[in-house]
Amino acid sequence: MRAVTFQAPYEVRVDDVPEPELLDAGDAIVRIEATGVCGSDLHIYHGRVKIEPGFTIGHEYVGTVIAAGNDVRNVGVGDRVLGCFQTACGRCFFCRRGWFHKCDRSRTFGHGAVLGGLQGTQAEQALVPCADLVLRKVPEGMSDEVALFAGDVMGTGYHAIADSGLRAGDAVAVLGLGPVGLCAVQAARAHGAAHVIAVDSVPERLALAESFGARAVHLKEGDPRRAAGEVTEGRGVDLCVDAVGHPDALDLAVRLTRKYGTVQAVGVYAERCELHMGLVWIKALRMCAGHANVLAHVDPVLAMMSAGLLDPAPLVTHHMALEDAPEAYAVYDRREALKIVLQP
Ligand SMILES: [Zn+2]
Ligand SMILES: [Zn+2]
Repeated sequence: MRAVTFQAPYEVRVDDVPEPELLDAGDAIVRIEATGVCGSDLHIYHGRVKIEPGFTIGHEYVGTVIAAGNDVRNVGVGDRVLGCFQTACGRCFFCRRGWFHKCDRSRTFGHGAVLGGLQGTQAEQALVPCADLVLRKVPEGMSDEVALFAGDVMGTGYHAIADSGLRAGDAVAVLGLGPVGLCAVQAARAHGAAHVIAVDSVPERLALAESFGARAVHLKEGDPRRAAGEVTEGRGVDLCVDAVGHPDALDLAVRLTRKYGTVQAVGVYAERCELHMGLVWIKALRMCAGHANVLAHVDPVLAMMSAGLLDPAPLVTHHMALEDAPEAYAVYDRREALKIVLQP
């Protein structure tokens, strides 16, 4: 079958690779019908996240179950499904508490041996372990390109809000309007945020955030601190989401957030980073970080997408064939796309 493989930094290739086979009674095999290119794929593309040459990449996917092991109960052959970007065992200390994102035996699709050696989903077929936990049937009437957001990007935007203790009527700032930031804007509105301040420096992204009900503020030409003050009688926002993953964004988040407010860093950090701890301490900020518990959120996210409360459709900017993956990665790397959906 055809699959997108990492070769070297800035080089991906569409290769012939062996078809997957069921290895465990809890496995399923999905024929992929749509698969996304994600910001975390770019970390691999850039060589920042190191994986083996020849490994199949990708972790956002929708398709049809074509085989399932004897223990798989919730989905079956012929079902149209979407999947989450990581697996979880369902049995360890963390899984028993519902913290699936920190599962001791978790594996992430398309991230090489370091994250469990699970081949990616930018391929004609994918092996999905722990299928009952990882897969969901696509709700009636939902398109492939919308459904694939539930297993990663929308789940992460939702987590940024739901994991932060947001209360109805709160003011939220979202820094960085890539797909995750834009999904966080929608999730904040859907959770009852009265004000959402959306900060970026790309006009099209600011316009999109505005269409989702946010007040768009240009990072350089505008004044995010003034905007945060204006809607909170000068206090600062109740919650600030750092969807960038850069020390400058974290610093701004600490400054925009009110005393005893929450800073939620969902943007990816891989390096040491300096933080004004004196400011964090004196404001008594609550700091949250890390990747999202998407396996725990997938059901509410799907329900809210079904009901139209969350709608990632405007984020899909490109449809391309799986065979054109090298071009898709180049386009995404040039920041010309928000979400590229590949079709095998
Ligand atoms: Zn992703
Ligand atoms: Zn576990």
